[in-house]
Amino acid sequence: MSKNFKIALDNKIFEIISKASQELKLESYVIGGFVRDYLLQRDFKKDIDIVAIGSGIDLALKVSELLPHKPKVQVFKNYGTAMLRYKEIDIEFVGARKESYSENSRNPVVENGTLEDDQNRRDFTINALAFSLNQNNYGDLVDPFNGLADLENKLIKTPLNPDITYSDDPLRMMRAIRFSTQLDFVIETESLKAIERNKERIKIISGERIVDELNKILSTEKPSIGFLHLYKTGLLDIILPELTALNNVEEIEGHTHKNNFYHTLEVVDNICPNTDDVWLRWAALLHDIGKAPTKRFSKKQGWTFHGHEFLGGKMVKKIFERLHMPLNQKMKFVAKMVMLSSRPIVLSEDIVTDSAVRRLVFDAGEDVDNLMTLCEADITTKNPAKFKKYHNNFDIVRRKIIEVEERDHVRNFQPPISGEEIMELFNLKPSREIGVLKEAVKEAILEGEIPNEYQAAYDFVLQRAEKLGLKKV
Ligand code: ATP
Repeated sequence: MSKNFKIALDNKIFEIISKASQELKLESYVIGGFVRDYLLQRDFKKDIDIVAIGSGIDLALKVSELLPHKPKVQVFKNYGTAMLRYKEIDIEFVGARKESYSENSRNPVVENGTLEDDQNRRDFTINALAFSLNQNNYGDLVDPFNGLADLENKLIKTPLNPDITYSDDPLRMMRAIRFSTQLDFVIETESLKAIERNKERIKIISGERIVDELNKILSTEKPSIGFLHLYKTGLLDIILPELTALNNVEEIEGHTHKNNFYHTLEVVDNICPNTDDVWLRWAALLHDIGKAPTKRFSKKQGWTFHGHEFLGGKMVKKIFERLHMPLNQKMKFVAKMVMLSSRPIVLSEDIVTDSAVRRLVFDAGEDVDNLMTLCEADITTKNPAKFKKYHNNFDIVRRKIIEVEERDHVRNFQPPISGEEIMELFNLKPSREIGVLKEAVKEAILEGEIPNEYQAAYDFVLQRAEKLGLKKV
């Protein structure tokens, strides 16, 4: 006897789809994420997948006809799918299909199929679960691969031989790891081994689709679960070799350095509970990538990573380009965070001076709070005394940032006296002197020699100009 979940289908839309199916004399089912998330009692994500044994497009058009406002149906003829929106919910219709892949082509040959054919082509047993929308068994769970048991046992498993499932569509390897991170599920051993065997196939997947999955992993409670899987299966070495290059510890003459790969994963996890910004997590993920290429050993200093922040910032752009990620403000933000990532740490180790804080606020601008969050997450020392000291110092830095900002307004620094005014004062044409004077004003403000105010800057310019032999007209 199959289990019945009529209770899951209390949304009016399901009744309407059922009625439309009946009128068209075809069967239909809710399948995939909606069923999985209902059974897991997870928040339903406003996206419902319907499979029709027949034409998904015809079913969508019929459903629209039966709805009061006859919503617009978006038809994707090439894919044989259609979508409509009902009360903020996207409902996607697809005809059941049978897919056969060949070794040489990324795109499968698609034919019409049965529900079972369609469930066979799904990625995981927990994503192949379906609720019937047919009158004779409305709400029955159709579960040919024991997906319900896998949900209970928290297991990611493919419906077919995993080598076939992953080789057919290698993105599924990323999806397996993403679902295991999101849901805190275990990936079945055979599946993990198959991912290892098929890892090279990830190269045929576009950067955009890979990044979609990485972003979903980075948005979970504990992204390190996903990154460790990516690492152990060998996928990470293909996707982000800059990160796996951090996974080593060398010892010379008794000097070692920390393993920056595991440190990085800790930093990413530390960021998570405090922010919903995936770009700050990217910054955490990439904050130390400059360390592998800059690592040196000298007898005097031991291990050093001079200039790793600067190089790391440059590497961010290359990675974003390679993975076809946006090269806009987001990339600039990540690069900036990486470049500045050591600045507050230096502050927190030492006595915190106003001028150092002012310079930090000046350089980080609007992003100073994010930078502080990143740097606090960067404290992974296991020495409790040091941990406490660094956090205390960061508290002081945070307080000083507020103080200094209230007084000096350097966050979005605008010179208190403009270049034009300096030109007028001394009857100058655009020239090097103007730059020198403006820079001197900025330095004096950052050093705390003068306040960030017009009159003070005016007097300061007059004084400095005299030294340069300039006369006020
Ligand atoms: P989420 O929205 O959290 O990613 P979801 O399971 O709804 O979860 P979708 O990407 O919307 O994920 O996919 C809907 C359904 O389509 C999945 O549940 C699965 O059955 C199927 N599916 C999606 N992508 C693949 C794929 N690459 N291979 C096989 N089946 C897939």
